[in-house]
Amino acid sequence: MENVELIKDGKRLDSRLPEQLRDVQMKVGVVSRADGSAEVRFGNTVALASVHGPRVLYPRFLQEAETGILRARYSMAPFSVSDRKSPGPDRRSVELSKVIRLAIEPTIFLEDFPKVTIDLFVEIIQADGSTRVTGINAASLALASAGVPMRDLVTACSIGKIDNTLIVDLTGNEDNNSEADVAFAMLPNKKKITLLQMDGVLTKEELMKLLQLAKESCEKIYELQKNALRENYKTGE
Ligand code: UDP
Repeated sequence: MENVELIKDGKRLDSRLPEQLRDVQMKVGVVSRADGSAEVRFGNTVALASVHGPRVLYPRFLQEAETGILRARYSMAPFSVSDRKSPGPDRRSVELSKVIRLAIEPTIFLEDFPKVTIDLFVEIIQADGSTRVTGINAASLALASAGVPMRDLVTACSIGKIDNTLIVDLTGNEDNNSEADVAFAMLPNKKKITLLQMDGVLTKEELMKLLQLAKESCEKIYELQKNALRENYKTGE
């Protein structure tokens, strides 16, 4: 690994403390043609989520007789990264689409919607680390604003280790130079983890500490999600 100094005098290169989130902005109702939508920003990472449905799925052979289905697509805009990203699906976006679907599915009462689909699009407009978790936060808000019956919101953040220090909410630079990075999502009220994906090496103690940090960060993010939803209904008055 390259020898990049990511922590100086206890602070990260963007002046954050190890356990500090970037500036987080959330807005619900940003795509007029969608049934529900949201934009979430974590620093320079910007994700837009758009929800279409629930609606009866055609062609019919794709339907599930006993349950509804969630179809999720993650994609990065060509201009979202410093090296132009070639448009269209690739191995990473197929994986992340699946990961996002699996993180979100447990919260939706899909069993109440036989033969139905809910289509979720997560578009990364700007990428600077932690795009999948930013996308999950946006997706959860978009689903709630579409009125999809849910057990809970889904709240997500990244955690990791750089320069031998445990941190929250990795930038792209931190991700590229990390000793470990973990994507985490949970249902904040049900206290159920729906995504835990790790790259790198951590001791068990480090992982347990990071999970605690992730839970605390998700509690903060959850408050911001609720505020964004309330704000949406206020403007609709
Ligand atoms: N990235 C990039 N080009 C790509 C894919 C990723 O520049 O084609 C950057 C981007 O900033 C992204 C980061 O690498 O956020 C980490 O990507 P990773 O695959 O770990 O997923 P993420 O952390 O975004 O969920």
